[in-house]
Amino acid sequence: MNNLFYGFLRLLVPRNNNKTGNSNKSHFHRSGRSQYIRMNTRNCKACWRCLQACPSDVIGKVDFLGHRHALIRHPDHCIGCLKCTGVCTFGALKAI
Ligand code: SF4
Ligand code: SF4
Repeated sequence: MNNLFYGFLRLLVPRNNNKTGNSNKSHFHRSGRSQYIRMNTRNCKACWRCLQACPSDVIGKVDFLGHRHALIRHPDHCIGCLKCTGVCTFGALKAI
C-alpha cells in the first residue's frame, strides 16, 4: 500500500531538475539528505519550522490528502548553516 501511495505521489509532485548535474533520486524516499544534513521523514510532524528557518530553499513540503511531511527538495542549495536542525524538535533533521 505504501509503495502504491508513493508511486502516486511521484506522479503528482514535480521532480527536482537539478541544474548542477548532481543526481539525487531520494526525494520520495523516507529519508533525504544534503551534503550537511539528513532528514528522516518518519519523525517529521509537519510543523514547517525548518522551511521557515532555511535561508536557501532546500526543504519542501509533501501535503497531500493528510499525508504531510517535509522533504529535502533542493539538496544542492544547502550551505550547511544547520538552522533547520536547530529548530526541529522532533529528531527528523540531523547534521551529518
Ligand atoms: S522542523 Fe522537523 S518536524 Fe517540523 S517540518 Fe521540519 S523536519 Fe518536520
Ligand atoms: S543546513 Fe541550512 S541551508 Fe541546509 S537545509 Fe538546513 S537550514 Fe537549509
